[in-house]
Parts: sequence; C-alpha cells; structure tokens
Amino acid sequence: MIRITEIIDKIIEYNPEAELDLIDRAYIYSARVHDGQVRLSGEPYLSHPLEVAGILADMKLDPVSVAAALLHDVIEDTHATREDIESMFGKDVAHIVDGVTKLSKIAFKSSQERQAENFRKMILAMANDIRVIFIKLADRLHNIRTLQFHKSEDRKRKIAQETMDIYAPLAARLGIYWIKKELEDTAFRYILPDEYEKLKGLVNKDRKEREIFVETIKHKITEKMEEVGLTCEVQGRYKQFWSIYSKMESQNLTFEDVHDLVAFRIILVTVPQCYEALGHIHSIWKPIAKKFKDYIGFPKPNMYQSLHTTVSNSHGDRIEIQIRTWEMDKVANSGIAAHWGYKEGRVVDDSVSKTYSWLQNLVENQETIKDPDEFLESVRIDLFPDEVYVFTPNGEIHSLPRGATPIDFAYLIHTEVGNQCTGAKVNNRMVSLNTELKTGDRVEIITTKNHNPSKDWLNFVKTVKARSRIRQWIKQQEKERSVTLGREMLDKIFRKHRLNFNSISKTDDMQKTAENFGFKTEDELIASVGYGKITPLQVVKRFIPKPEEEDESIIGKLTGKVQPKKNRGGILVKGIDDILVRFAKCCQPVPGDAITGYITRGHGVTIHRKNCVNALKTSPERQIDVTWNEEATNSYPVTIRVRSLDRVGLLADIAGSISKNKANIISVNTTFWTKEKVENVFELAVENTAHLETVLISIKKVPMVHEVKRIDR
Ligand code: MN
Repeated sequence: MIRITEIIDKIIEYNPEAELDLIDRAYIYSARVHDGQVRLSGEPYLSHPLEVAGILADMKLDPVSVAAALLHDVIEDTHATREDIESMFGKDVAHIVDGVTKLSKIAFKSSQERQAENFRKMILAMANDIRVIFIKLADRLHNIRTLQFHKSEDRKRKIAQETMDIYAPLAARLGIYWIKKELEDTAFRYILPDEYEKLKGLVNKDRKEREIFVETIKHKITEKMEEVGLTCEVQGRYKQFWSIYSKMESQNLTFEDVHDLVAFRIILVTVPQCYEALGHIHSIWKPIAKKFKDYIGFPKPNMYQSLHTTVSNSHGDRIEIQIRTWEMDKVANSGIAAHWGYKEGRVVDDSVSKTYSWLQNLVENQETIKDPDEFLESVRIDLFPDEVYVFTPNGEIHSLPRGATPIDFAYLIHTEVGNQCTGAKVNNRMVSLNTELKTGDRVEIITTKNHNPSKDWLNFVKTVKARSRIRQWIKQQEKERSVTLGREMLDKIFRKHRLNFNSISKTDDMQKTAENFGFKTEDELIASVGYGKITPLQVVKRFIPKPEEEDESIIGKLTGKVQPKKNRGGILVKGIDDILVRFAKCCQPVPGDAITGYITRGHGVTIHRKNCVNALKTSPERQIDVTWNEEATNSYPVTIRVRSLDRVGLLADIAGSISKNKANIISVNTTFWTKEKVENVFELAVENTAHLETVLISIKKVPMVHEVKRIDR
C-alpha cells in the first residue's frame, strides 16, 4: 500500500509550489470516513483511494485532482455528502467527486461495438470536467490490478470485458497509453486466460536469445548516435501481450510470424535531432518502404508525436523504431494529462484553458483529423454539449439531440412505438410527453394498441425522424379520409348512370383513366375526387357510352378550341368564358325568358327556356347556369301563331303592325283550318320578351284577329 508521504514526494518533484494542505486534509478526511471498511483483498479500504491518488500523481496532475482522487468514493460509500465535500474542499473538488460518483452508478451491459461507443461518449458527456475521466481511469486501473480478489469468475470476466470495451479505448483516446496498455493486458488475462498463458509461454521461451538480439541492436544504435554526437537514450521494449495477440488474430499470423515483438525507442532533446537520428538509422539499416510515419509533422489528434520507421538488418530481421523528444515521450505516456498538470511552473488554469482551446482548434479544423471516429469526436460532445445519452429499460444506450423528448425516443426505437405512444416513464416516474431528456435517464415508453400520434407533438419533437414520421402519419390519415369520401361520391354518380363503381374499380380501364388524369394509381384519383380537385362527373364521363354524333371530350370543348358563333355575347355562362353557345330551336329563348344551359358533347352549351320540355328531359348534371347578357343588343328568332277570320288585306294589316313595332318578319306560313278561319305562323326577330309583348298586343288590335300566341316550333 502506497503511503501519503510517497504521493506528496511525487507531487513536490513536478510541482514544488503545490497546495499540499488540500491534499493533507483530503487524506485525513478520507481515512476517517472510510475507517473500518475493508477491501476484498483484506486491506483497509483507504488503500484504494491512496493508490488512485498515486496513479494521478504519476500522471503529474494538479492538487485538486489528487485531492478528489483521495475522496472519490466517499459520497458513494460513506455518509459524506456533496455539500460536506464542497464546504471542506471547495467547488472544484466537490464537482469532480460528484462526477465520479455519478459515473460509478451507470453500468455497461452489452459489448456490442456501437453500444460501447455510445457508452464511451456518454461517460465523456457526463464528465463535464475531464479530470473526472482521469480519476475514473485510475480507479479502474487499480480495481483491475486487484481483480484477483473477486470471488466470482463471472464477475471478474464482466469487469475485464467492460475494461476492454470502455476504459482502454477511453485511455487511448485521451492519449494515456501506459494506462491503456496496462488495462488491456490485465483484462486480456481474465477474458481469454488460456490464450494469455499460451502467449506468455511463447514469449518467454526464446527470451534469452531475444534478449541478446535486443542488446545487440541497442548497442548498435547507441554506438552510431555517439559517433555522430547525438545525446540520446535508447530503449528496447517488449510489446504488450494484447497487442501481439490482436496482431496475430487480425492478420492471421502465427507467433513465429510476428517479427516486431520488441519495439525500440530513441529519445532525444530537440525535434531536429529526431530527424537527424532518423537519417542515421536509415544509413545503417535499410528502411522498409511505406513503413515510415511522421507523427511529428502530423501529430495524432490526441497529441501523440513521434517518428516511426521499420528497418531490416542484414539477417532480414525487422526492427521497429520510434524516435521522439523527451517532451513527446511524456505526452505519449500521459496524453492530455501531460498538458493538464504542471509544466515549467505555469499555473494550472492557464494550462487548462490552453488544453481546451487546443481541442477547440482541432474541432474547428476538422480537415486535420484523418480518423473522425477518434478521440475528438468524443471530446467534442464534452466541449459542445449538444447531445444526450439515455438508456432503454434493458440497458441499451441511445444518443439524442439535446432537448429531445420521450416522443423522439419512442420514434428512435421504432415507428410503431412512436405512433402508439401514450405515456412515458423517466427513471421510473411518469412524465409528460414533452419532458426534455437528460443524459443518464432511463426511459420507458408506454404504448397503447391502435393509438394514434397527435399533431401537437410536432410542437416539441426535436428529431428529424419523429417529425417526419408524425407528418407522414397525418398525411396518410388525410389521404385515407379523402379516398373514403371520393369513393362515396363516385359510387353515387356511377349508380346514377347505371354503372357499378365497385366492379369498374380495379380494372385496367380504371387504371387507364387514373393515368389519363395524371395519377399513378386509382387511389390517387379517388383521393383527388375526395379533395375536390376533380369532380365525380369528370370521372364518370369516361365510362358513359358515347352517343354517335357527340364528341367525348366535353372538357376540352368547354374550355376553348371551339370558335364562338355570332349570336354568342347575349349569354353569360357561369364560370366559363369563350364558350360556344347555341339557342335551342325548339323553344327559341329570347332575352327576358327564364333560361337554362345544357352542356352538349362537342357543341358547347345549348340555351333552352327553363320550361322547355326538352330542357326538362336532360339530366341535371348536364345543366349549367346561364344568364342573359343585358349589355348585348341582338335580335332573336321567335315563333308566333295568329288565328283570325279571313278577310281581304288581313296579312298586310298584321305585317304592318309588326313592322310598325320594329320587329322583322323572317318567314310566314299561312294555313286555313276552316273555310273562314286562317292561321298565320310568323317567325319574327325580336330583341327581348318586352319587345315581343308589344308586337303581340299590337297584332291583337288588328280587326278579326282573335288569338295571338308565342309557340314552340
Ligand atoms: Mn474507487
């Protein structure tokens, strides 16, 4: 068990002016509240926070981090509250301890890659101070170091798997490689114990021989560097077991095929020295093409910098060499943490803001990031929190935009879940459907069969998916209503024409008709009748057998094409301009008569008097409202019959009274119906009914005339 004095010594070494009082007080408090608690190892519980604090000191973090590490389990495991911590150790420490406590309450269940990724993001999102993650990683590191004390094999494997899926990748993304490696190798031992032991045996088998090889190479490099006057340290390190195993698995190699079990490292003082050293290495051994990588010129997003090269010696051995400065070596080991702690006497706040602005810069210059799935994606949500992470009842994690509601969540799960959503529980409590979800919420959706989405939901949903699904549903509903209505209307009019809509429906003829109207399907045609865009009459016309003399395209004729005839102008047809108008010969309407229009096939509109027998015979669908145009001054034919006793000069007298009243005689036809009685049928041209009336009265005054009457022809 590490002692507090050792931790303090470490801190003084990298930060002589550290506020040690804070750490002392945290230690004393932690020891007091954890007093009597024991770890599974049998050690006092205090050993755990001490070890975690020691790891943070190894990462050269600030006193606030170390103090928070000493206190990281007190809210979770003792009677201490966040308020206690804040009043004794300040806001920062309390905030961090609280963050660690919250993280420890969420459990990761599935090792599915996507879920793992969401879980990692969730951890980053919840830890709004990156020091929370540092403590969480150190906590996990110490826990896995002491995993052997757990009794349950199943539990051990679960913790190891979670470490592999969540915490090792997090450490890698933050650039803390030494923690990543140790987490992976330890987890490996518990996840695949047989493979681990086998690999360990293989590595140890030729160890002696390999050690001689390592020493030879190191000596050769050192010799060369001394010769050219470069001061450096040369290291030869075995690769971690997990990385050897992964390489064998992913490239399908046997152990003997893995040539780079040992990685060499040359650490120098300045950047130019690194490139210089690289040149000298390539002068003694042949570089392998495409194996050179310049991470100094192009650092990794997590700040890692080094030159990587692989060379082969005269025996054909592959030698992997990393070249870097001491500063780069520090960053390579502790990543962001290296920039977080104390550096050349700079105060932590400056360093913190620098780290954040550095991250922000990277985010804003996305093109510099080659692998978008790397660390930055995750940190972005920490810096620009626009997402929330929530759980399903069985522990799956989903990400949603900030402000998302249970409705968004329901549609994310499934369209039907969204459509039938009637209620929601968040963390086991009923909430209203427009409640904003928060990271870590456990959301349960209550559905009711045959329940329908509400238009109101559109006012608060945040996701595109929910919005479009709700709109889609509303549109579908409108369409269904229109189809029902359209079908009813069509059914009615078809019946009127002694046609059965149902039997015509679904035939090729109906499909063709739909296409003629510009629709893809019959339903679309029916719906547009329901919407009122097309009249049922227009549809049924297509199915009425056409009389010989008539043209089928009534609409086309009604709306143009036909040249109007001369006596048009006297009639206004409601709603239609430029239409061919004819006057019925049967009833000869004149202005002043009540009239009606009758739509013919191909001959425009025929005007009848309203009480004309022929007009009454036509079907109501074909009738159209018409009125006389009072501004027009035309004359119209009308037929009258004059009955009288015959006498000399009678016809001349009648004709005289007609012309006296300014009406023209078009024709006259005289018949005798007895010896003395005569009947004259005149066709006259009059202006209107009033004009006609004057003419009729005038004729009546002619001697011997006993009946004057307008007649149908
Ligand atoms: Mn802990």
